[in-house]
Amino acid sequence: MIAELISVGTEILLGNIVNTNANYLAVKLAELGISNYFQITVGDNEERLADTIKTALNRSDIVIITGGLGPTKDDLTKEVTARVLGKELVEDVHSREQIKSYFAGRNVKDITSNNWKQALVVEGSIVIDNYNGTAPGLIAESVNGKKIILLPGPPNELYPMFEEGIIPYLRSLQTAVFYTEMVKVCGIGESKAETMIADIIAAQTNPTIAPYAKDGEVHLRVTASATTIEEGRNLVEPMVKELRKRFQNTIYTTREEVNLEDVVVKLLTDNKLTVALAESCTGGLLAGRIVNVAGVSSVLGEGFITYSNEAKQKYLGVDAETLKSHGAVSAETAIEMAKGAAKAAGSDASIAVTGIAGPEGGTQEKPVGLVYVACYLQGKVTVQELRLKGNRQKIRNSTVIYALNLLRN
Ligand code: ATP
Ligand code: MG
Repeated sequence: MIAELISVGTEILLGNIVNTNANYLAVKLAELGISNYFQITVGDNEERLADTIKTALNRSDIVIITGGLGPTKDDLTKEVTARVLGKELVEDVHSREQIKSYFAGRNVKDITSNNWKQALVVEGSIVIDNYNGTAPGLIAESVNGKKIILLPGPPNELYPMFEEGIIPYLRSLQTAVFYTEMVKVCGIGESKAETMIADIIAAQTNPTIAPYAKDGEVHLRVTASATTIEEGRNLVEPMVKELRKRFQNTIYTTREEVNLEDVVVKLLTDNKLTVALAESCTGGLLAGRIVNVAGVSSVLGEGFITYSNEAKQKYLGVDAETLKSHGAVSAETAIEMAKGAAKAAGSDASIAVTGIAGPEGGTQEKPVGLVYVACYLQGKVTVQELRLKGNRQKIRNSTVIYALNLLRN
């Protein structure tokens, strides 16, 4: 099923209003698993609107039109749609009552004649009530079974009508169900991940893989279209198995709702280990992330934000000599921070982070994005050097992911 969006309004073409309706509808269609190949904006012009609707009906199964349903002369959508479909506009008794009660609720006695225009509907169409305005929505059908959905332009009218009236209708049209698993990978960059599955992507039909890069992670959404959930799962599972073979333990979950911090906290809980945190450039971001997980108190007792060199010495016992000869951003400092945090907290494990988040502070030798993450686990310390890209926020977010991932491994 392919849907097409038509936004009607000269004010959108002129840039006077931002087309948030198309954005809203696009997100909703994606959630419903309905393909959306075209989004067109057209002004309040009869001929151009008619042409646009005809073109859309030729290439799409569902055409959703927003705007131009109001009472004024430039509101032409209903009239033009009826003309293109070769149908009449007829008065809808129920819509007339709705308009009456809408105005009664606002204590308006003289309803102007142009408002009654809004009680006219394309013959044979389904009427969608509008509780926040006067123009009802319509679902009309062409002779060859294509659907045209008309909705008012104001978002406060459109959104509830779409949620309550249109989504159930679209669901009823869908014969296919979608089954999705989310393969979440971390520890390898986006382009490397994409290269690793380029052959699958080039040959894919059903299921499909949609890669999405997040800070420090790559999510691969594997979706199959099927007639039952069971069939969908059977299509998705071999693909997930293939991805597991390729990505090995860089995959930390295949479930959409699970985040890296959940996996790390579960690992610690299952192994009855406690953890401490020592953060420089992330400044508490790592702690915030871990504390997202409910029940973390059994594994996390404390975290240290040691931004300055003094704090690194004072709370973590980092050697002044280490800071002087290797610098705060170095593998040596990260290791001492990790050891110091575990010692100060008396924990089994720790994660330490030190780096240059930028935009200032980088040098030729130590550029912005140079980060060291270290992990202490029962006497053993592992350290990893990262060369991250992006702005300050992205570098800090990615650091948190790499740091959590280091402990996971
Ligand atoms: P009305 O009864 O208010 O005239 P309508 O269905 O005729 O509704 P339009 O006249 O096209 O719709 O637009 C009315 C208002 O709705 C616009 O001024 C704008 O604020 C909002 N609107 C219309 N289209 C969009 C859009 N695509 N994205 C966001 N807002 C929109
Ligand atoms: Mg209008």
